[in-house]
Amino acid sequence: MSHRKVSSNKKASKKKSVERSVAARGYYTDSLGFLAMDSNVPGLSEVILQKLNMKSFEEYRSAVEGSDLAANFGIRTYAEMFQKMEDTYKFCAQCKKLPSRLPDPRAMRRCKRCQNIYYCSSECQRENWPVHKKFCRKLKVAAIDRLVEWLVFTGDIPFPTSPWTKPTADVKTWEDWFTMQENLEEKLDAVMASRYMGILWSNAGKPKPENSEIRESVKRLTTDFFTRPMTIGFGIDTFRVDPYNGPVTVHVVGASHIETLNIRASDYDELAKMFPGNQGLEVVMIGPEVVVMSPPLTAYGPRGKVYVSGYKGLYHVFWETLVENERAARPDLVVGFHPGFHASQGLAEGWLPTLLLLRDYNIPALFTMYSEQELKYSLQILAELDARVLGAGPFPFCSLKPEQVQSDPNKPPVSSNAYYLLFRGPTWFGSETNMRDLEEDNMD
Ligand SMILES: [Zn+2]
Ligand SMILES: [Zn+2]
Repeated sequence: MSHRKVSSNKKASKKKSVERSVAARGYYTDSLGFLAMDSNVPGLSEVILQKLNMKSFEEYRSAVEGSDLAANFGIRTYAEMFQKMEDTYKFCAQCKKLPSRLPDPRAMRRCKRCQNIYYCSSECQRENWPVHKKFCRKLKVAAIDRLVEWLVFTGDIPFPTSPWTKPTADVKTWEDWFTMQENLEEKLDAVMASRYMGILWSNAGKPKPENSEIRESVKRLTTDFFTRPMTIGFGIDTFRVDPYNGPVTVHVVGASHIETLNIRASDYDELAKMFPGNQGLEVVMIGPEVVVMSPPLTAYGPRGKVYVSGYKGLYHVFWETLVENERAARPDLVVGFHPGFHASQGLAEGWLPTLLLLRDYNIPALFTMYSEQELKYSLQILAELDARVLGAGPFPFCSLKPEQVQSDPNKPPVSSNAYYLLFRGPTWFGSETNMRDLEEDNMD
């Protein structure tokens, strides 16, 4: 699907497609995760389905996959779309009551500071404050970001980026990356003045934040958009894979339903800007939930460009059927975004064969995590598998957009790609001097 650059004489269809993609964007990629929300807020999954006019997760899922989504979701106006999104956050942060369980559902009040979380009564608000005060500021940012994120679907974010003017080794932080963007302030001005930014704040149902706050939000969403290509680029660079010497193939393992459903051919183009003059970069998304995409290349892709392809299935099956039979290229790098090894069930069922394969074939691998705890757990698993960890720590190109735990605002918001680890198999005898310096990444 394409959501960008629709000609102006098709306004209605553009609006439809924009609403469609907002509704489709969510965190529910499987029914287990979807229903798990109910252990925190009984009935929340029901509210979400009801707001989207669905009867079950399966219906939600099939509507997301189907072409007639806007009709199924029954959303008619922008105000209604933003209202429905907001309603899925509406429950008492202290006692977890949904509005429907109050004598007067309209009695639900929002925290005035963050404009994000709700209380059934002033008693609940008072009781919750010792916990909420730790996250109120961050949740204010999260509330702004989840509205401004709409501009990713309208194509206003990200702004057009420039080919890198510095070597990858000199770009160590997002600040370094932003300073490479020519006319950055003008580009941000253009996003601020865009038509959809206006529509957003006249329909959001919330007070408009200060311009400086919205501008910061646009920058955070820019980092959120680019954190994945930056992660891949970081892996290519750190493992000293040479994209100028020959074409490079990157496998993204455990790619999810939602991330491939909404993917655009251009989503990883930043990699081509990072390595201008490369011999061709292919990013293959692999996972049992992957939405059908172009199949992996058997011949080399176009030079200087990024080619995104996909395979629906488990990684070791992909390897046995395509890679072994030379119907897909062997990877120069394998990347996994938030594999969630800490959910032990998932490891036994899905990840173990992948990790063993990466270890035994000695493939350079890079995985990211949401939290330090998840990183520590992942390191433990890799140690048990005798994999050789070559670096780990906070990831400099994590998304700066806070991810709120929708069903529990009393938990700290997390960041996508907040931590990373690099590993290879134990049979790899190359020394760390073959890797880019990771001096500041030592873990204690
Ligand atoms: Zn309450
Ligand atoms: Zn608050």
